[in-house]
Amino acid sequence: MRILVTGTAGFIGAALTEALLARGDDVLGIDNHNDYYDPALKQARVDRFGEHPRYLHRRIDLADMTALQDAFDGFRPQRVVNMAAQAGVRYSLENPHAYVQSNVVGFVNLLEACRHGGVEHLVYASSSSVYGDNRDMPFSTRHAVDHPVSLYAATKRADELMAHTYSHLYRLPTTGLRFFTVYGPWGRPDMSPMLFADRILRGETLDVFNHGHHSRDFTYIDDIVEGVIRCLDHPAQPDPDYDPAHPVADRSSAPWRLYNIGNGKPVQLMRFIELLEQHLGREAKKNLLPMQPGDVADTWADVAALHRDVGYAPSTPIEVGVERFVEWYRSYYPNA
Ligand code: NAD
Repeated sequence: MRILVTGTAGFIGAALTEALLARGDDVLGIDNHNDYYDPALKQARVDRFGEHPRYLHRRIDLADMTALQDAFDGFRPQRVVNMAAQAGVRYSLENPHAYVQSNVVGFVNLLEACRHGGVEHLVYASSSSVYGDNRDMPFSTRHAVDHPVSLYAATKRADELMAHTYSHLYRLPTTGLRFFTVYGPWGRPDMSPMLFADRILRGETLDVFNHGHHSRDFTYIDDIVEGVIRCLDHPAQPDPDYDPAHPVADRSSAPWRLYNIGNGKPVQLMRFIELLEQHLGREAKKNLLPMQPGDVADTWADVAALHRDVGYAPSTPIEVGVERFVEWYRSYYPNA
């Protein structure tokens, strides 16, 4: 299968690309290698498979329609996975335009290219941040998500809505996946596992927001990759129960799906820090701070729908995942 993966130099895109190559797919990877965080880490991720005979890399920006179209024309992908995005909640407070450029303009460009290229299935990354201040636990795709509390979340919600439009108008099968705090080897330096590991080893103080009381549905990277591939292999179908004679507001006849993809077992931030301390063999100094604007208190994914439809069953306990993350961290940063 010819699969185009965007954001291949990123944390999830690189892990996914490795898995697709390992099972025999041809992959075209696209990334603009931006400097939101250490470009050397992005390059090192791509170097893992950059020389693979079934891998092609294009360093282009999704917002550049001409370059994107050229990449599509040359490769003619059958399926597409969009992992490229300007990520991060806090950065969106200072850099709103970067989010619109990558997550809105870039995403529309990708939808257009998929539509004209006759792509069989587009799987794209959304985020648990679309749930905003929702307090109904666990988070379900049946919950209303009309009140995003960061621009990042607003652009991710916009992607879900625009995907629906393309599924409806052009019958483009799309599957949106709302990721919940992904962690593991080759992770992101702007996210708490890396930030905390780095500071603990340097003996620096950790800024722990919301006094460490919030919980996150930390999800191990290998579980995420397996779930994405399961979805990719099962294109969305029109809802068989949909009755066009009796349309209802929350139902759609389009080949459009939207799922949570998390672990389904939230962990308190303080517990996560304890596990890091244990595996790093160092105690953390903590600066307990109030909640930040745009942050959400707790996240917890209801993953029953993804289990029912594609058999998704995350299997990595947090204790094992943190141990593997620390092992990788120590080998990648031997002098830390
Ligand atoms: P990441 O930042 O590591 O990867 C994103 C990649 O996309 C980067 O390599 C970046 O250079 C590239 N990129 C950004 N804008 C681009 C553009 N306009 N054109 C081409 N490339 C571009 O992030 P990640 O953690 O791998 O996340 C992958 C996806 O999952 C993103 O859409 C993110 O919003 C979403 N997500 C991630 C998490 C998580 O916990 N990691 C949680 C929720 C949602």
